[in-house]
Amino acid sequence: MELEKFALPGVEDKRPLVIAGPCSAETEDQVMETAKQLAKNGIKIFRAGIWKPRTKPGGFEGNGVKALPWMQQVKKETGMLTATEVATAKHVEEALKYGIDVLWIGARTTADPFAVQEIADVLKGTDVPVLVKNPVNPDLELWIGALQRINNAGIKRLGAIHRGFSTYDKKLYRNLPQWHIPIELHRRIPELPIICDPSHIAGRRDLIASLCQQAMDLQFQGLIIESHNDPDNAWSDASQQVTPEVLNLILNNLVIRETNQTTENLTELRRQIDDIDMSLLETLAKRMRICREIGTYKKEHDMTVLQTNRYDEILCKRAQQGEELSMDGEFMKVVFEAIHAESVRQQMKIMEGK
Ligand code: PEP
Ligand code: MN
Repeated sequence: MELEKFALPGVEDKRPLVIAGPCSAETEDQVMETAKQLAKNGIKIFRAGIWKPRTKPGGFEGNGVKALPWMQQVKKETGMLTATEVATAKHVEEALKYGIDVLWIGARTTADPFAVQEIADVLKGTDVPVLVKNPVNPDLELWIGALQRINNAGIKRLGAIHRGFSTYDKKLYRNLPQWHIPIELHRRIPELPIICDPSHIAGRRDLIASLCQQAMDLQFQGLIIESHNDPDNAWSDASQQVTPEVLNLILNNLVIRETNQTTENLTELRRQIDDIDMSLLETLAKRMRICREIGTYKKEHDMTVLQTNRYDEILCKRAQQGEELSMDGEFMKVVFEAIHAESVRQQMKIMEGK
């Protein structure tokens, strides 16, 4: 991908790059009041949704074009840059007409290659910075595909936003972080800045601070956070928005850790990790060898590969033993499920006489 630095006029090139503002531009007063408070606290990029994709009809779908002059006013009165979501070619045209500085593509839109291509086509010939949210489903290739479509249209100031992934049964988070997906995106395209959206991951304001810290510890480039002057009465996403004052507190408490290894001590610890990983691999290989022997025995005695009781016993026991060694039981289950799957695969090969 041919990218340029995600440089924005008047915005310092440091971590984290912060974009903040309400989920939606509701009224001129709400937009201006929130923007002024954010600007006072040093926020440089103001976000607000003009067109809101709602899951069901009947919710607040945004003010549309009517709200764009409010964004211009924000820029004029506070000097902040402005950012909004676009989902169609028409949105892009309108947003650019009103001088919006940064565009982002929402999660529902990223999941639709036709819509992304339509946006890419209308972006040709412009050089507006674009951020692409991950698709609602955990599909890294679809996310990369959307980034490529925008990049192929000539947009070189490009970034990604990690906003978590939908699940059927909601647990702690509104959208599961699945951190390994943005981490893999970073591995695949290291020069692409990735910004975390803790508001949409969390779905509730009390989880935002810790998600911001996690994002910084995972070396994300920036944060996009929903902030509203009166969050409880917001017309959309009320439970996840924070006041500009709370946002300021969250940002001031962030610990931005060194990214590069600086001490010999760390090198030594990493060497130890390499050694341990090697012995883990050797131990695993030995375990697989024994499993293959068991496979041969099962074949000779006409037994099935999967012995359910034994499998359940292993999973429960290892989870418990792991916990005794200060590891998470669920983590141990995941590890042993994966090991067991590979053992079964190897035994199946023996059964098939390969
Ligand atoms: C938003 O940023 O307000 C939004 C609608 O987000 P997402 O596309 O991540 O759901
Ligand atoms: Mn929102």
